[in-house]
Amino acid sequence: MKSTVGNLESTSVHAGREDLRDLGVHVPSIDLSTTYPIDDLPLATQSLDALAEGAAEAINPIYSRLNNPTVRRFETALAQLEGADDAVAFSSGMAVLTACFLAARADGGHVVAVRPLYGGTDHLLTSGLLSFDVTFTEVDGIAAACRSDTSLVVLETPANPTLVLVDIEEAVRQAGTVPVLVDSTFATPVLQRPLEHGASLVVHSATKFLGGHGDIMGGVVATNGEWARRLRQVRILTGAVLYPQAGYMLHRGLQTLPVRVERGQATARLLATRLADHPAMKSVLYPGLAAGDPQGLVGRQMKGPGSLISFEVEGGYEVAVRIAKEVRMLTPAVSLGSVDSLIQHPAGLTHRLVDPEVRLRHGITDGLLRISVGLEAPEDLCADLHRAIARSLSDQNEVSTLRLRLA
Ligand SMILES: *Cc1c(COP(=O)(O)O)cnc(C)c1O
Repeated sequence: MKSTVGNLESTSVHAGREDLRDLGVHVPSIDLSTTYPIDDLPLATQSLDALAEGAAEAINPIYSRLNNPTVRRFETALAQLEGADDAVAFSSGMAVLTACFLAARADGGHVVAVRPLYGGTDHLLTSGLLSFDVTFTEVDGIAAACRSDTSLVVLETPANPTLVLVDIEEAVRQAGTVPVLVDSTFATPVLQRPLEHGASLVVHSATKFLGGHGDIMGGVVATNGEWARRLRQVRILTGAVLYPQAGYMLHRGLQTLPVRVERGQATARLLATRLADHPAMKSVLYPGLAAGDPQGLVGRQMKGPGSLISFEVEGGYEVAVRIAKEVRMLTPAVSLGSVDSLIQHPAGLTHRLVDPEVRLRHGITDGLLRISVGLEAPEDLCADLHRAIARSLSDQNEVSTLRLRLA
């Protein structure tokens, strides 16, 4: 069996593929079986018992909701990249978060959440669906917010959509014995490994950078053995399994993850600087700009600032709407982490379900736009954005006259 011990780039390419040479193949096959032949009933019963207890693998996978070898390869690889004992994959990022909350439920019915969070996470916590008592707070307030029945502290860094960085070590210190879940979707294991800073659970919406091409939905959590066992039990019961074909594609996506993340980041650095120089710019939120990282976490907690940028141009909502309409190379769409660049309006889309007052308190203004920088040439993206901004700022009357003349 070949070794996958090495630098992150090598691990990305080789993890979860250690047995391929012995199998005489170059890429893994996709196991689409929903059920598996049972020739030895007592042995199969043993396998079933083990899987129901949360084992990662068994001699007989029995049924695809209990265990799938293709999905397992992706989990093994992701766990290695995060420096975790184990990982558990689900059908989406929201399915992962739901499973984590359900798994934590046994330890108490209270959750402490650090805002801002992804709109869906925020809404899941406020909806009452999981019958949790939730206290929203800032990092400094975690210790005061924790109670004897607190089972989980939830945070996101960089946070969606303001790109605020949260000090994971400080959060862990404040949480004391309560496990800390870090949604690391924006960072990926290439830029940040939260377990090394004391987090207990690292969550990714695999739909974003891990897949990387805008064509797979999935989610994954990297953690220690005991949490993984509990999460697999939840997955068996709730059924939010990752489809094997998606497991294969996510595993393949990991192979190019470092290259994609680093290239997107290099372009984002350039774009953020250019945007910050624009005379009509009200604010640019990016951890690579001095103002975006007041605690100096880039370099200490994160290897780099990543490839998401939020910004606001003078003129508020009206101008933001026009910019998102005027771009040609960027696609106006939610989601992020794809090979192509996307632009979206958080207050109107991803964070629509968050209380408007909470949105404003956390800087999610009606004029704010968020860009996910892809792999296009930096000059082309810069030109597209500057052109869209210029057109959006130009005299509205002039544009409507033009439209009349063209009609
Ligand atoms: C998209 C996203 C999620 C939800 O993931 P889905 O795969 O869409 O269910 C959770 N957290 C963050 C930070 C996200 O960007």
